[in-house]
Amino acid sequence: MKIESRLAQIGSVQEPVTGSVSYPIYLATAFRHPKLGESTGFDYARTKNPTRKVLEDAAAELESGDAGFACSSGMAALQTVFSLFGQGDHLIVSLDLYGGTYRLLERIMSRFGVTASYVDTNDLDGIAQLYTPQTKAILIETPTNPLMMITDIERISQWAKAKGILTIVDNTLLTPFFQRPIELGADIVVHSATKYLGGHNDVLAGLIVTKGKELSEQMAFLHNSIGAVLGAQDSWLLMRGMKTLALRMERHQENATRVAEWLLEHEAVEEVYYPALPHHPGHDVQNRQSSGNTGIFSFRLKDARYVEPILRSIKLIAFAESLGGCESLMTYPAVQTHADIPEEIRRQIGVDDRLLRFSVGIEHAEDIIADLGQALAIAKSEIGEV
Ligand SMILES: *Cc1c(COP(=O)(O)O)cnc(C)c1O
Repeated sequence: MKIESRLAQIGSVQEPVTGSVSYPIYLATAFRHPKLGESTGFDYARTKNPTRKVLEDAAAELESGDAGFACSSGMAALQTVFSLFGQGDHLIVSLDLYGGTYRLLERIMSRFGVTASYVDTNDLDGIAQLYTPQTKAILIETPTNPLMMITDIERISQWAKAKGILTIVDNTLLTPFFQRPIELGADIVVHSATKYLGGHNDVLAGLIVTKGKELSEQMAFLHNSIGAVLGAQDSWLLMRGMKTLALRMERHQENATRVAEWLLEHEAVEEVYYPALPHHPGHDVQNRQSSGNTGIFSFRLKDARYVEPILRSIKLIAFAESLGGCESLMTYPAVQTHADIPEEIRRQIGVDDRLLRFSVGIEHAEDIIADLGQALAIAKSEIGEV
């Protein structure tokens, strides 16, 4: 079945008792055993909950993996994955990384003796130089956030396999609708399902999908032992969001492309970072490994003084700190999402005070462009340009 159909049908045909078209929310945390030594398959909800299981099975199938695990947030999913590692282990990580993941590695995992080195994951020589016998995994985001750098997943996972280490991909920005890293050789996929999968800025959730029996068993052990699992109500809400993922992603892509092309022509804008644009350095790899583009891009203004009036003047677009929902949101990475990344690294990757990130919603593209246009006009007139 095509992915659109699988998404629309999540949870729809699996409830045999009543035929309910929407899967029920099982709030029970404990499940009665038929007799000693027997189980319905459900014992205690941290280990397994029926509603959460429908979501987890769907996630595994959509990402072409063997097992799925729903967590209370994207960070909880990453923490659970990082718990595969311990004292002395080393990770190689995308340089232009989600700020929260950087914080988790540098301020928490470091206390458990796990170290990380950051590199442009396009640069295989740079990666190879960082490799040591202690290296256990490579973690990539592609595209990265906010600079939308693209990494060739197949190339990286082939290198990692040859070294006997794991490839972990944070697939939040593209979702399995546009990109399936396990099919390209990755071992683990992580999501902040708070973003496109949920899609409505109303549920905080994370997902892990693993490939391989042993790794899936290890992850099940960690997921249950750590206990940062997703509640039944939020599992249901996430599945409800995922049913419309295909439609939303197509519209996000269409709108983002139109708005990015418009901004690229605007005199106040120096550069637009969006892999759908032919001049983007990752354009070809992106087209090869993904079937579409995310709804997020970043753009650099010619003058940092434009930022304040733009963020004050946008009306339809909200100045807020997330991405992937129906509503258009604009973020100022240097002071919001990436504030925890040291200025030196921020500058190296190009997250400066002229960079804005735009999560383009599913409103009409003309309304989004009109809102941006009036905000940019105010910004230009306030700093004395016409
Ligand atoms: C938001 C985000 C996370 C963290 O997810 P939460 O659901 O906010 O905990 C991790 N990775 C990426 C790429 C994100 O955008």
